[in-house]
Amino acid sequence: MYPTEPNFDSTEPATLRRATPIPSTLRVLVVDDDDDARELLREAVQMMGYECYAAHDGLEAWEMHQADRMDVIVSDWSMPRMTGMELCRRTRNHDEGDDYTYFIFMTGFDDRDHFARGIDAGADDYHSKPVDVDELGAQLASAGRALARHRRLAERNADLRRDSETSFRVARVDALTQVQNRLSMDEDLRNLWSRVMRYGHRYSLAMCDVDRFKEYNDAFGHQKGDDVLQRIAQTIRDALREGDGHYRYGGEEFVVVLPEQSLPQAAAAMERVRAAVEGLAIPTGRGTVVTVSLGVAELDRSNDRGVAEWLGRADAALYRAKAKGRNRVEVDDL
Ligand code: GH3
Ligand code: MG
Ligand code: MG
Repeated sequence: MYPTEPNFDSTEPATLRRATPIPSTLRVLVVDDDDDARELLREAVQMMGYECYAAHDGLEAWEMHQADRMDVIVSDWSMPRMTGMELCRRTRNHDEGDDYTYFIFMTGFDDRDHFARGIDAGADDYHSKPVDVDELGAQLASAGRALARHRRLAERNADLRRDSETSFRVARVDALTQVQNRLSMDEDLRNLWSRVMRYGHRYSLAMCDVDRFKEYNDAFGHQKGDDVLQRIAQTIRDALREGDGHYRYGGEEFVVVLPEQSLPQAAAAMERVRAAVEGLAIPTGRGTVVTVSLGVAELDRSNDRGVAEWLGRADAALYRAKAKGRNRVEVDDL
């Protein structure tokens, strides 16, 4: 639907956001089809104080990792059902966004070719058997630091992303009336125009201007004038359908964009807006109430050469509404 209302849910300050917990201990999965080698590794890892799990082959390891993420996988190379290489590739493809699994090969192959292929497949480190417990301990400690760093960065990135999304939204909302602002309107209309040129949807647009608002300000002051603008903005919003666009064009002027509405339909909708504002019965001090005038134009694909012409026709209709005495809706006389 076009366009969407702003969402203020994510404007909460950074301090209230839930931080991704950094695990105090590592979850280490050792994978080896050789019972003795696996048991030896498992005991060594446990002795180091890490949470250790064991799998008999690549496939079992893969299923365990999918069911419950591991921080580190220490894997043999040749195994039935799924090799260490395949497990490594899948683990890397599975890592996304903020997740990273540290992958260590622990194999009987100690040649350069295996080493290079293992690192190519995405492994972080490569050790050849027999297991050197001190070396593995140092490696796991380093893995823990790398993962903690990775998670801190991922957390900071998520904060930055949220902040930038919030700034993006805030920059497109009018501070006084909380409706979309001119920047947002310009962007939406540009997108709408290219969509219309491609797919040919129907749109109508209304320019809405508060009548004799200068006099209101002069009589009651700008703060009371601001209150009136807020109430009128809210009244217009309440009268619209979901998917209609509503913008503060500037000053005491608003623009409404009505998708899939013909000129008469849009004019009827704007007549409801006009009546609703009048119905607020805000006294002007001159024995009358605050009203709005509106000009409506339907987008004409074959004649309008751009959004500006469309807006211009709505504006011309608005001027006619003013000239005819205000508090009325005039349609484009194309
Ligand atoms: P018309 O019926 O011809 O539109 O008369 P008008 O007085 O509304 O038109 P004019 O363009 O002469 O004056 C617009 C007024 O709107 C002047 C300005 O003080 C007021 N205005 C514009 N923006 C704001 C705002 O943010 N707050 C307040 N309080 N007033 C505003
Ligand atoms: Mg004006
Ligand atoms: Mg005005």
